[in-house]
Amino acid sequence: MQGYCGRIAIIDLTNRRVDYSGLPESVLRSFIGGRGLGAAILSRHDGPSEPLAPESPLCVLVGPMTGTDFPLSNRLVFVFRSPQTRTLAWANTGGYIAAELKSGGLDGIVVLGRAETPVYLHVHGASLTIRCARSLWGKGAMETTEALQAMHQKARVLAIGPAGEELVPIATVINDKGRASGVRNGVGAVWGSKTLKAIVVDDQPGRRACVTDPVAYKAFLREVTGKIRASGVIDSKTGTMAVHGTAIALEALGRHGALPTRNHTLTTHPRYAEMGGRALTEKVLVDRVTCTRCPVRCRRVTASEGRFKFHVEGPDYAQLCAFGPNCDLVDVEAVSYMNYLCYDLGLDPIEMGNAIAMLAEATERGFATNGVAWGDAERFAALIRQAGTQRGEWSRLGLGAAGAASSLGIDPLAMSVKGISIQNVDPRAEPAWGLLSATESLGAAAHVWTYGDLVYAMKDVGVKPIVTPESTPGEIAGHVKVKQDLVAALDAMTVCAFSSYAVSTEDYAAALGFVTHTSWSADELLAAGERIFELERQYNADCGTGAESDTLPERFLREPVPTGPHAGKVCDLAPMLDAYYRLRGWPQGKIAADRQPPRDAIATIL
Ligand code: SF4
Repeated sequence: MQGYCGRIAIIDLTNRRVDYSGLPESVLRSFIGGRGLGAAILSRHDGPSEPLAPESPLCVLVGPMTGTDFPLSNRLVFVFRSPQTRTLAWANTGGYIAAELKSGGLDGIVVLGRAETPVYLHVHGASLTIRCARSLWGKGAMETTEALQAMHQKARVLAIGPAGEELVPIATVINDKGRASGVRNGVGAVWGSKTLKAIVVDDQPGRRACVTDPVAYKAFLREVTGKIRASGVIDSKTGTMAVHGTAIALEALGRHGALPTRNHTLTTHPRYAEMGGRALTEKVLVDRVTCTRCPVRCRRVTASEGRFKFHVEGPDYAQLCAFGPNCDLVDVEAVSYMNYLCYDLGLDPIEMGNAIAMLAEATERGFATNGVAWGDAERFAALIRQAGTQRGEWSRLGLGAAGAASSLGIDPLAMSVKGISIQNVDPRAEPAWGLLSATESLGAAAHVWTYGDLVYAMKDVGVKPIVTPESTPGEIAGHVKVKQDLVAALDAMTVCAFSSYAVSTEDYAAALGFVTHTSWSADELLAAGERIFELERQYNADCGTGAESDTLPERFLREPVPTGPHAGKVCDLAPMLDAYYRLRGWPQGKIAADRQPPRDAIATIL
């Protein structure tokens, strides 16, 4: 099918074998690519494996839009079974590596097995070799990347740090020294379990997609680019997210009392204005960077030679919020350093910050001794090192907020769903965020800008919310469902979902049609997203994670917001969940027999 290379590498690290496989057209039509293809591959393997077992597949995938001229089409998607949530999970990263992989002639890599000694994968063109990484094992992700880029000029590098090597359940993968804010659910531990230190993709000669009707496509691209320029959110020169970075969400949520503060015991911080995108720009910003084919340039680079020394990509909104208001640390320089430290160790900074917030509350309430005080930056840095290297009294923070709280017997202090901490919006102030977080296949790891129009407070930063304080449970359920289906489709096409502040569902369907030479309507695209979402849901049910896990921490359901504009509110999840299950056609949260995913198509894969 057009739009694909038609070639995927299958790596068996146990036997050091590299094979290549084609991809059946029926699977691509059903699941598109990226996240959808990964869900199909995981479902194809004979029942879910333990997340860190050698036979558990690690998929590294691109999609049909990767490497095309369509704006923001640059995502690389990891799909795997998560050691943190034990669900199917995906992790989405930008930058340049996805386009390089596709330009060389691969739609992705599936890694199986476990190498006896540390290895890295070197992709050159459409072929791949397994190389020795003994000298890199034990090194931080930054040093590993520099060493590999010295060996492979201009190459793009994905690497794990010590946390992945130690199989820490909140370990991440670092992409060209950054871009890990959407890379959660412990994918770094999956790499470590395969003794896989890095993937290096050589600079490839550009290969243009062959589209149907190039003249019409050019006009279509002009129109889409015009919409991006007219967007109050993502226009490069004036858009709120572009100019101030994703961190600008912190100011909006702080103003509207929806900002996680002190482990969600409060919903705003009196000094939030000193902690967000503007403060970041004033104090530590040194550059704005971007990803392939993206005019937006929302990525930040921060640096300091002061009390903390670092030079790093980020932090984004969720990292700033996790270490800032949620840990009561009013110091963007220190928060940026925490982000750097996590990236070098290969830890998910969002989970790490939220785990420290949990421990700070536990310490304050006398549930933990020798823990941590709110806002103690030096102590935070020590705890991050303990979690990342698995050495020290609080190495258990590497289990994440839920795992660490459980080990202390204080589960209700973890603000987590399915074992992963909620990505930094308070569901009592923003009920749609509650429903979204309760029902996402991979746990509460939804990105605030991916689903920004489900957050009413985001209207302050130019977003047009599709929910209001007056929305009924049924309306909220409808919006959450459509948005989840759309995002699943975009993750399968591998387009950055931030484009949806300007690009319509009809535009995405048209783009997919031009590139794949097949016809797609907006409804068909949403139906594909729904199919992917349901396949993930079925996989999770097969793993033993069913409707009982579609819930929220007790704090959101029963503890009223103590102060501020939402004082007295809890998140009334039950009526939203009922309406949601009805809309999805899932009686009691189970996928009905007549809606089961198309297993015949999946059976033909690989
Ligand atoms: S909007 Fe930001 S994250 Fe998305 S492609 Fe552009 S620079 Fe990358």
